[in-house]
Amino acid sequence: MEDCIFCKIVKGEIPCSKVYETEKVLAFDDINPMAPTHVIIIPKEHIATLMDVKDGGTNIVDHLVSAVQEVAKIKGIDEKGFRMTINCNEEGGQIIFHLHVHVLGGKKLRDELA
Ligand code: AMP
Ligand code: ZN
Repeated sequence: MEDCIFCKIVKGEIPCSKVYETEKVLAFDDINPMAPTHVIIIPKEHIATLMDVKDGGTNIVDHLVSAVQEVAKIKGIDEKGFRMTINCNEEGGQIIFHLHVHVLGGKKLRDELA
């Protein structure tokens, strides 16, 4: 999508600190981390919000969950623990309208994005 920051990251028009990538998803460090580990995982395809995920065909949620597991292992937080969060729409705190999963860890989490 033209003016979408995360689509621009997928296209390489905006740089990112890449953590993990597959054909379907891209993971990169959050630019404004709320914990020692804060990774954003996005579908490469533009999907605006969690409510726009359509079932059928390849389920992008499966790809996102697999990516969360891989990112947790890469960052060494899989055993100690972490949090995955999806903010949806305005009252859910969504600022960027390209579906994304936050992966937070590296400390005892309290209210970060809870
Ligand atoms: P949300 O409030 O769920 O929409 O979260 C959007 C997240 O994207 C925030 O945590 C931002 O810090 C992060 N973010 C915004 N721009 C970038 C960027 N260029 N690279 C990495 N993370 C970003
Ligand atoms: Zn997008």
